[in-house]
Amino acid sequence: MVPVIALVGRPNVGKSTLFNRLTKSRDAIVAEYAGLTRDRQYGEAKWQGQSYIVIDTGGLSGDEEGIDAKMAEQSLQAIEEADAVLFMVDARAGLTAADQMIAEHLRKRNKRSFLVANKVDTIDPDLARAEFSPLGLGDASPIAAAHGRGISQLLQDVLGVFKQPEPEPEPEEGAADETEEQALARIPGPSEKDGIKIAIIGRPNVGKSTLVNRMLGEERVIVYDQAGTTRDSIYIPFERDEEKYTLIDTAGVRRRGKIFEAVEKFSVVKTLQAIQDANVVIFVMDAREGVVEHDLNLLGFVLETGRSLVIALNKWDGMEPGERDYVKTELERRLFFVDYADIHFISAKHGTGVGHLYKSVQSAFRSAITRWPTSRLTQILEDAVREHQPPMVSGRRIKLRYAHLGGANPPLIVIHGNQVDAVPKSYSRYLENTYRRVLKLVGTPIRIEYKGGE
Ligand code: GDP
Ligand code: GDP
Repeated sequence: MVPVIALVGRPNVGKSTLFNRLTKSRDAIVAEYAGLTRDRQYGEAKWQGQSYIVIDTGGLSGDEEGIDAKMAEQSLQAIEEADAVLFMVDARAGLTAADQMIAEHLRKRNKRSFLVANKVDTIDPDLARAEFSPLGLGDASPIAAAHGRGISQLLQDVLGVFKQPEPEPEPEEGAADETEEQALARIPGPSEKDGIKIAIIGRPNVGKSTLVNRMLGEERVIVYDQAGTTRDSIYIPFERDEEKYTLIDTAGVRRRGKIFEAVEKFSVVKTLQAIQDANVVIFVMDAREGVVEHDLNLLGFVLETGRSLVIALNKWDGMEPGERDYVKTELERRLFFVDYADIHFISAKHGTGVGHLYKSVQSAFRSAITRWPTSRLTQILEDAVREHQPPMVSGRRIKLRYAHLGGANPPLIVIHGNQVDAVPKSYSRYLENTYRRVLKLVGTPIRIEYKGGE
């Protein structure tokens, strides 16, 4: 399981700055002043091949009302579900009463916590350590989030306590002396044991439990006894048309004989972990509510992780033709960033369209892990360039010479050429669309990476 790390601390200690550095995203707003309310931020991060989820919990003011009152429920829940908390304090500002209250809270919850003193670019790290020792959380790790100082050491300490997952294939270096055959052999297929792992994801009440029940209750499905549950999500192995699958059920439907029972509440962390652990995500939305902001956030996360995606518009039963047209237009307009995903209009309640999900799951999964030889990828590149040349940069034309596969799940296409730093985004999109069309890739994002030199 991917570890979850929550960033906790009062406003302005540098949580967003650290979050952005860890996730390399600019999504979280870095505020120049305290007290700016903002949503929790969830991000995917990777350090030395190990994936983890970071949550920026927003500021805990820890004032006289007590921090419990000040913490949004989602924030509290994030702390509860995190495997470790990075409790950040501001070395420049020194120890405050709010820090004391937060420390007290973490101690009470018995959370695995790491004390982190930020902004040590402004103060001697040894002084910072001494300053915060009264918190009783051990020596503070000195960092300067804004400058990247101390981060490696911190990650080593924090992530060191979690087991290393199976190594992912490193992108092949163009100059590496391994053969293409060897490089391609490192791309994973479906796991023997689990088959295709499908996570059923979506906001509360969109119909996830109903869909899980429907999928498992189908006549053609053989459900095996659960191999055990991990965390809050439930892993249910089954077989359908001689294909193995494992359903990752975030809604917490538990099998008891032939009866299914809903037991858990919605949790963002659980959802993110299930996405991370899946091969294919079935993203469920409620057709009657259309696309809401939270759907977009979750879909953004799915895109970020590169997982294959199938979208299910549920509760399609009993909708008026006018409503249906409206929903379809909305989808087209707002889900353009995941337009590679198949969309199914289903009724989990009545079973309509549910069987068709499998075909999309399969093609999405196969698309994500298929191995394409260098000759094929290069041929497509050459054809694409002939059709539509890359632009000139300071009088010289950008040259794209050859392409090879650098990884799978999602497919990574590495393109070698000259002046590749100057390739415009629109041209990358053109290449991506060309690859998608020619290779008939569905349900998976494609990543394109450029390498300069010869
Ligand atoms: P948050 O409210 O805890 O998320 O804090 P922010 O990340 O928004 O940072 C608050 C302020 O501290 C910003 O002005 C940052 O530029 C500044 N800051 C963050 N990290 C550092 C650091 O390592 N050194 C210094 N000097 N300033 C920092
Ligand atoms: P979850 O919270 O996402 O697991 O959602 P549930 O599966 O518990 O469903 C929430 C509500 O939506 C329940 O009342 C279901 O009966 C209802 N529901 C689920 N699927 C459908 C559907 O396809 N059509 C209709 N009309 N209602 C549905």
